[in-house]
Amino acid sequence: MGVLAGRTALATGASRGIGRGIAERLGREGARVAVHYGRNETAAKETVDAIEAAGGSAFALGAELGLPGDAEALWEEFDRHADGLDILVNNAGIGNTPPIEEIGEEEYDRVFAVNVKAPFFLVKHGMSRLRDGGRVINISSGLSRTAVMPNNMAYAMTKGALDVLSRDLSKVLGPRNITVNSVAPGIIATDNTYELLHSSEDAWAEAAAISALGRVGEAVDVAEVVAFLASDGGRWVTGSWVDATGGSLT
Ligand code: NAP
Repeated sequence: MGVLAGRTALATGASRGIGRGIAERLGREGARVAVHYGRNETAAKETVDAIEAAGGSAFALGAELGLPGDAEALWEEFDRHADGLDILVNNAGIGNTPPIEEIGEEEYDRVFAVNVKAPFFLVKHGMSRLRDGGRVINISSGLSRTAVMPNNMAYAMTKGALDVLSRDLSKVLGPRNITVNSVAPGIIATDNTYELLHSSEDAWAEAAAISALGRVGEAVDVAEVVAFLASDGGRWVTGSWVDATGGSLT
């Protein structure tokens, strides 16, 4: 039996990329997983199928984030499938953003709406559903601390805000024995980084060289860290920024 047997998890943005890796990993540990998607219902169903094929249990849950009322809509949909929650993974996010010289207000507002406002209100409206002893795990980025890429500043700023949410929320939910942490990936091969990793012949090798371990990360590298924090073994880690960059110290 997996270490998360009997628990219910919700991973946002689990139709693709890192979120899919997290959903599959938590499912493999026995959690029943709510696989959230924005626009790609078919891809979310593939995540559900993969979890079920591995002997787990999951269901898909659609909600566009970054719009007024998005969090309440998501929880209303969630309530139709499940009665309470143990693990909330705020993973859905967008980036990259243009440099400060080029970014407009609309693009700035959009990245903050999806990457900051949505997780904030998902937590606000989800706290009553989250059971005591639960977990909140926010997927941040190495760009909020160890890696400095000013060309992507607005995106990095959203992850800095998410880190404050992790830190301060840990005090709010601590009395209920709920831990809250940020997990910060480095460069992970997903749709989000496809352009970057294929922008030139050397792009992949250059990205790999940023990590002390000399390779580009995979979704499962992040999912393992999330699975640890979600497990009983992670019970004494809260309010933290957990480095999952493979040593990307630029
Ligand atoms: P990805 O491959 O682009 O996937 C993004 C996921 O988020 C998809 O499941 C997408 O759902 C969902 N999503 C995006 N915008 C949404 C919206 N407005 N409403 C609802 N769902 C939305 O991204 P990723 O690379 O896996 O990144 C996942 C997280 O890790 C993000 O928070 C990102 O900032 C962070 N991160 C990534 C890297 C990296 O190198 N990849 C590094 C550091 C941090 P649909 O496709 O169904 O619309």
